[in-house]
Order: sequence, then structure tokens, then C-alpha cells
Amino acid sequence: PRRIVVVGGVAGGMSAAARARRLDEQARIVVLEQSDYVSFASCGLPYHLSDEIERRDDLLLHTPATLGAALNLDVRTGHRVLSIDRDARALTVETAQGSYREPYDALVLAPGAVGVRPPIAGLDHPAVHTLRTIPDVDGLRAVVEGLLDRRDPADAPHAVVVGAGFIGLEAVEALAHRGLQVHLVELADHVLPPLDAELAPLLSDELAAHGVDLHLGVSAASVGTGDTGAAEVTLSDGVRLPADLVVVNVGVRPASQLAADAGLDLGPTGAIRVDGDQRTSDPHVWAVGDAVEVHHAVTGATGPVPLAGPANRQGRRAADSICGHRTTPQAPVLGTAIVRVFGLTAAITGANQATLRREGIPHEVVHVHTAHHAGYFPGAEQMHLVATFAPDGTLLGAQGVGRDGIDKRIDVLATSIRAGFTADDLAELELAYAPPYGSAKDAVNMLGFVAQNALDGTMPQWQAWDLDDALATTLVLDVRSEKEFAGGHVPGALNIPHTDLRGRLDEVRAAAAGRPVSVHCASGVRSYLATRILRGSGLDARNLSGGWLTLVAAQ
Ligand code: FAD
Repeated sequence: PRRIVVVGGVAGGMSAAARARRLDEQARIVVLEQSDYVSFASCGLPYHLSDEIERRDDLLLHTPATLGAALNLDVRTGHRVLSIDRDARALTVETAQGSYREPYDALVLAPGAVGVRPPIAGLDHPAVHTLRTIPDVDGLRAVVEGLLDRRDPADAPHAVVVGAGFIGLEAVEALAHRGLQVHLVELADHVLPPLDAELAPLLSDELAAHGVDLHLGVSAASVGTGDTGAAEVTLSDGVRLPADLVVVNVGVRPASQLAADAGLDLGPTGAIRVDGDQRTSDPHVWAVGDAVEVHHAVTGATGPVPLAGPANRQGRRAADSICGHRTTPQAPVLGTAIVRVFGLTAAITGANQATLRREGIPHEVVHVHTAHHAGYFPGAEQMHLVATFAPDGTLLGAQGVGRDGIDKRIDVLATSIRAGFTADDLAELELAYAPPYGSAKDAVNMLGFVAQNALDGTMPQWQAWDLDDALATTLVLDVRSEKEFAGGHVPGALNIPHTDLRGRLDEVRAAAAGRPVSVHCASGVRSYLATRILRGSGLDARNLSGGWLTLVAAQ
């Protein structure tokens, strides 16, 4: 029988092992895992910290015994692979009892990622934790419960979370949920750095509304013990934060040392290079998950994308390849991801605007602020969606923030990018509709309509970040109501409500004095009508994408 050995027994590794068994009943399949746990729900860890998942056992999806019984897998925890002898096709494995050699015919590397250690003095301080493993969450829960037991009701314990990425935000939410006063420190100038800048303030406001103290654009410089004997974090701007607990999650890098030591090819980002079947530069070795290099679907760039979905699919593909089964070639990765931040959901897919700019990829940005289901049906929540399109209309990326309906739109948009859809295709998508669920013109259709208009010249756009230029070289026309205008407006803007515009065109002509007109309203809908009126009257008008809502957020 074929000897298949898998290194790493969680997402990618266990997917490979289980699929291999389903394809080959005779194979001898060994899974080597250095920790005490296999098949655990990493993605569920923050929700055990928050106590939403109360039972720790619910995170442990399988044990070596259940995997042995169901799939006849030989799963060995506490087994750390030290080296790969590729010539002899054998591993050196270290256990508490000593080391031994394990031969293989096919080897799957699924070692995952390692947390980046940021340059913070005092990272070994006992108050500092991270959130990646079962022991991590056990430790954090014990600390939180100890702090809450000793709590002075007038003074909540303080937690400092360093890193406002996906896991950092989940940690913030969990700790705030447990009653801690949370301080969040992020080096980038906005939370959730992969999110487009104009959406991030929505998350910041939600964090602040839940009492989170935000420190953006600064780094944690050191962790030490303050005058009171309690720990404190000193930031790069000199601010000192009390810290009964510090959680550091500033990203990961591929755990590729074992592969590198064995001479397997790595890419420039240090991730293991694999082909479309997950095979490494050694035909007897496959690699999957956070440790490998993938191709980004939109930019074509290569690098690791540490997400559970790709890891699971890659594990399945590696097993297919090993067992000679038909393989579905590895599709480029979109990096589709989602996070809950208290009452809000933020989600992304494809390339974000920063990446498109950096890569010099021409694109049109479209903002839509629309209700998640029919506006007249009770409970409609506003969604904020951004999508980017190539000049030929191809969808390149999409992002959304809102209280409801974001997950389904991002999944439709992710599917659309994978399908190579254009603005025309989005406009024609036929999506499920009844008032409690959506709108006859769904938000995704709206993105398509707006992009069609922007790209074919029906409604040329200007963007919030062009405001200075718009003020210097054009007439800024605010077509909201007088009341809305009085509540806040761009200095120097002319206010003519869109319903009055047809009767006041001469005023616009006089104020524009031959210059183009940069129109805006609250969300971009009324100003679209106004833009059409002006263009139909011979004026060179353009519409602010996303309106005042985006303008305010982008400042
Ligand atoms: P892992 O699942 O990390 O497994 C690798 C295993 O290999 C580890 O258990 C490690 O101990 C073992 N190992 C490493 N080296 C050796 C060795 N030499 N010998 C033996 N064993 C070894 N992704 C999402 O898509 N959505 C989410 O909501 C999400 N939430 C997350 C929340 C948290 C707190 C964390 C930590 C991750 C989250 N992720 C999420 C990411 C997701 O968990 C990973 O992308 C996925 O687990 C990667 O799978 P993998 O098989 O490559 O590595």
C-alpha cells in the first residue's frame, strides 16, 4: 500500500488526509501534528474567548481516536517533524519519548503559518498573549476570568490589542464582550488595513460606540511594568496605556522553514512554491495551506493568502493528485474574507483599491449606499458597497460594510469575479427577491448599473479624494435639500436642491463660468439625476461616487 504522510493536522493537512482515505482505502495514512490537538476550529477561537462558544470541546472537531475510527487515519499528536530526507523519502520526527524516522511515498506539508513577532520591546512580558491555538485561548480565558473575578466594579480591567486585522478585531470584540476596557493599536492609518480607506471609518465609529479606545497610525513600542506594578504598553507617540492583558496579532508568515531546509523551492515571499496540483519542486512532496504560494486572481501576484477556505480546498486537491484522481486545477485566489465587528459586518473580495493603485491597474471605483432589502419593508439596513471595474467593465474587487446583507452580496461578487463578470453581467444578474430579502434591483445590480453609467459616459464620476481638485477647477454643486446643506457642506459649494434644478440652470451656468460642474448629494442618487439634467442641458457635469457619505468618510 501507498504510504502517505501528512505534516500538520488542522485545516489543510486533515482535508488532505481525509480525502486521501476516501480515494484509497488501502493506503497507510499517517498525520504528524506537533501540538496536542488536531482538526480544531482555529476560526472559532475568538468566539470561545468571547464565550459565545461556551464549550471548549465544540472547537475540537475530531480527536485522533475519532479520526482513526471513521477514516482509519494514524493520527499522532505531540509529533514534531524536524527534517525531511528527500533522497531516502523519510522524515525525522521528534516526540517526548525521542526521535524516529518515518518513511513516505507521498508527503503532504501543511504546517500553516507562524505569527509575526513585531519589534516591540518587552514582548516576553507575562501580560502578552497571542490568539492562534487552543492553548492560547485557554490561557487568555484564564487571564480574563481571573481579572473579572478581582474586578473593582468601578474600574474594568484593561486590555490592549495590538493589530487591527481580522483576528485582532475579533479579539477586540471578544474582550469587550467579556467586559474589559479595550484599547486597540494599529500602525496603519485605519482599522482593517485591507479595507478601502473610505469604508474603515464606519468600523472605527462602531468600535468607539462600543467603548473601544482607538490608536491609529501608531505602533506599540514597548510593554513593561508601570509605576502601579501593573503592565502598561507605551506607544510610539509616547502615550502609555494600562494593560492587564496584551493581545498581539499583527499577521502571519508561512511556516516554510522545514521545506526550506529540505531544499524545496520557495517564492520571494518565503512561501512554498507549488504547481496547480499542489506539488512542490519535489515530485513526491505536496504542500497546502498558509505555507504555500498562490496566484492572486486579479493582480496575478504570487504570495501566501492565509485563509481557511483555500487551505481546505488545497488539501483536497493534493490528495486527488497523490491518488491519481482527476484534479481540478488550483484556481487563483481572491482573498475573500469577512469579519463581524460588533453590529457591523465588513467583507472584501478581489483586489482592493490600494493594490490596484500600487500595481498601476486602471480602474473605475463605484460606491453604492443602499438598503439591504426593500426600503419600505421594516428593518431595512443601509449597506455601504464599493466595487472596482477595469475600463472594459471587468469586475476587479468589491468590499462592503453594513449591519445586514453584506455576506450575501460579497459572496455573489466573489463568484462574479471568479466568473470574469463585467458591469453588464452584474446589471443582468437575476437574484432572489421578495421584500424581506432584497430589492427588485439588488445592490449587486445597482453596482452594475452605476458602473455601466460611469464607464460609458452616461454619468462621468468624480471621487471623494479629488475634492481639492474639484474645488480648485470646477463648480461644486450640492443638490441635497437646504436643510441637509445647513447640517454640513463643502465650503464654497453652491446648493440647489435637485428638484429645483431645472428652473435654476442659469444660476448654475453663471456660477460655473465655463468650468465643469462637480455634483454631489448624500449617496449619489439625486446627484445622478442632477448630472443627467445638467448634461442634457449642455453642461459638463459629473457625479460624486458615493456622495456626502463617502466624502465625509474619506476626509
Ligand atoms: P493550520 O490550520 O494552522 O495547521 C497547521 C498545523 O501544522 C498546526 O497545528 C501546527 O502545529 C502544525 N505543524 C507545523 N509545523 C509542524 C511540524 N514541523 N511538525 C508537526 N506539525 C507541525 N480563516 C478564515 O478563512 N476565516 C476565519 O474566520 C479565520 N479565523 C481565524 C481565526 C484565528 C484565531 C486564526 C488563528 C486563524 C483564522 N483563520 C481564518 C485562518 C485559518 O485558520 C488558516 O488559514 C488555516 O487554518 C490554515 O490551514 P493550514 O492547514 O495551512 O494550517
